[in-house]
Amino acid sequence: MSNPHVVDRISPYLDGALPASDLEYVQAHLEVCGACGRAYTELRALRGLLRGLARPAEPAGLVDRIHWRLAREEAALRESPWHAAWAALTQPLRVALVGATVLIIIGLPLGWMSGLFAPRGTLFDPDAYVRNYLLTSSDRLTDDVTRTVIVHTALPESTVQR
Ligand SMILES: [Zn+2]
Repeated sequence: MSNPHVVDRISPYLDGALPASDLEYVQAHLEVCGACGRAYTELRALRGLLRGLARPAEPAGLVDRIHWRLAREEAALRESPWHAAWAALTQPLRVALVGATVLIIIGLPLGWMSGLFAPRGTLFDPDAYVRNYLLTSSDRLTDDVTRTVIVHTALPESTVQR
């Protein structure tokens, strides 16, 4: 063999496809030759990288195991005496939660647009109220009796009977 290096035999070596007669020589050469040793390390790393890319990210059967576990937990929950009570307890809560969410999502903008949440101050006009009161009470008799009743009820006794 004229070429002592084993670069062209690294790939079959990694595949385990080298004849037994070559195997010992290649192994021994990789230990002593820096260039072939580096080529071997790089090729091995590259192959590992490619294997990692080709394989699916999750371990085989992971999805099946998750499904199996969920089904098992669901079955265990169904058999549990607490399941019925828990379902009965959480069902109204879940319905209420959905209802509240719908109410907030739909009701809030509608209420806002219809002026339901407008500040009270803008709806109540004191001047208009006084004007309206004076107009409606102008034809009423505001004699002394009426005034006395108002004073008596509005002020403390000590102030009135001074
Ligand atoms: Zn070499």
